[in-house]
Amino acid sequence: MELTVYILYIIFAFLIGKWNYSRGNSFWLGLLLSLFLTPLIGFTIVAITRVEKKKLEERELKSGKSKKCPTCAEVIRADARKCRYCNSEVPYSVYINPLLKK
Ligand SMILES: [Zn+2]
Repeated sequence: MELTVYILYIIFAFLIGKWNYSRGNSFWLGLLLSLFLTPLIGFTIVAITRVEKKKLEERELKSGKSKKCPTCAEVIRADARKCRYCNSEVPYSVYINPLLKK
């Protein structure tokens, strides 16, 4: 019984770490906050911190899943041929560029 509680505690702490990472913050910070201050407090802290959109964009660009539109500089999918923000066609050189960078 007690072991189950410990395992659930660690699972919740891990999930909160992953959730914090998906919001553009540190996985380890979310995990450690939940481990040391209980998952409930970790959850609350992660919930009140803002989503780091810039970091999420950087991760997407680094992973090669996204690229910047040469016209409007919005982040769009790497295999997009047309920007969904400004509707301009993405030139072929830009289209192939993220593949060459990696
Ligand atoms: Zn655009």
